[in-house]
Amino acid sequence: MRRIAISILAPVLALVLGCATNPATGKRQLNFYSEAQEIAMGREADAQITAQLGLVDDPALQAYVSDLGKRLAAESERPNLPWSFKVVDDAVVNAFALPGGFIYVTRGILAHMRSEAELASVLGHEIGHVTAQHSVNQMSKQQIAMGGLLVGMIAVPEVAQAGDLAQAGLGLLFLKYGRDDERQADDLGLRYMVDTGFETREMPKMFGVLEGVGEIAGGGRIPNWLASHPEPGLRRERSTRLIAERGYPPGEVGAERFLRRTEGLVFGDDPRQGFFEKGVFYHPELAFRLDFPAGWKAANERSRVVAVHPDQIAMVELRLAREASAAAAADAFLRQEGLTPGRAERLRVNGLAGVAAPFEVPRQTGSSIAGRAVFVELGERVFRLMGLAVAEQASRVRGDIGRFLDGFARLTDRDKLDVRPQRLALVELPRAMSFEEFLRRHPSEADARVLALINGVEDPAASLPAGTLLKRIVGERRGD
Ligand SMILES: [Zn+2]
Repeated sequence: MRRIAISILAPVLALVLGCATNPATGKRQLNFYSEAQEIAMGREADAQITAQLGLVDDPALQAYVSDLGKRLAAESERPNLPWSFKVVDDAVVNAFALPGGFIYVTRGILAHMRSEAELASVLGHEIGHVTAQHSVNQMSKQQIAMGGLLVGMIAVPEVAQAGDLAQAGLGLLFLKYGRDDERQADDLGLRYMVDTGFETREMPKMFGVLEGVGEIAGGGRIPNWLASHPEPGLRRERSTRLIAERGYPPGEVGAERFLRRTEGLVFGDDPRQGFFEKGVFYHPELAFRLDFPAGWKAANERSRVVAVHPDQIAMVELRLAREASAAAAADAFLRQEGLTPGRAERLRVNGLAGVAAPFEVPRQTGSSIAGRAVFVELGERVFRLMGLAVAEQASRVRGDIGRFLDGFARLTDRDKLDVRPQRLALVELPRAMSFEEFLRRHPSEADARVLALINGVEDPAASLPAGTLLKRIVGERRGD
């Protein structure tokens, strides 16, 4: 758990405005950045993503995705960029690209794919965004649009980070491209697939999977590929038509190789990184539990756990402090510019040593913010619990915030400490059977629609031949 760095938004003071030729399209276009700046920007954001989302701890899988991405990128118009391809430890179905050639797929999107060629179609699309410099252009536009917010973030970093603005940092990664950019990235991706020898018909299949994810989620979890991309159904139809018109020769699918590589991948949210059950947040790795206010909108963002009051008048947040003791952390916290510090006092929270630090954040316009941070020591770590409320409304939420600040405790419940994530496992059908029969013989604690989707099964009653490799999900489903 680390702080969200926002420095990517701040620099680039000297924008070199010029006109350059787009390497992928050959057209002249307005370009804010030199290639060196583009790479530097990508590299800085890459460090943040790696720290904030974390990478899947599976060197063989990382190498596999990286090798495949590099083969595709070698066929692109910018083979000499420092291309990098990483699998981030996130259950959301997503893939994204940063300027300079830094590309990510989530373990969530991998779990939904069925072949190497499907993976190639997604990586190829993201490579297309980089080669056509969509992300650079979008980034400069967005950077300008967010200039106003930045001033506030720099002035009161801790408080700004605690608010909705913190999302702006990550928001940059989920750039929304225009329809033309998306079509262009699809076309470029298709070209890289063909040049690398992959089966192009796997591309529309991948769009079908994304369509299915959208239908099951009902537009639920964002931000993801679906939120930042146009209707996958339209892209499926368009790519099917293009591929049929052009009559590409059959290429490599690589289904078995892909499935064997991704076997054992964590499926869904990993409860070891923390999970909610009946309003209580449990963190097995860090061995603590914490009560959250009922009815507040909570999110586990890995670098912090946060909950916002339904009327948005208050929020509570938990994160790790960097200092070695609660006293040192409270001291550093209260010294920040932009805070009016109250008097720190020692206390005990469920038997753990801590320091409470009340404070206020005066604002030039509108009501000031009343805050209270409590620093608690557990093992080698110092945790920071913080409650913030619009000062005029603070009395409405005092009870909720108080229970949160008092609710941190060591986790001793074995059942919670030993929780394991669900994982993908493969079954090779010993004889022909329907998907329905497969589900009965190899049950999974998961939605049957999700299981059909990740296996590419359209008709669960239809017979599948012996030898078919199917995915199941093993392990207990936890969290709510
Ligand atoms: Zn895209």
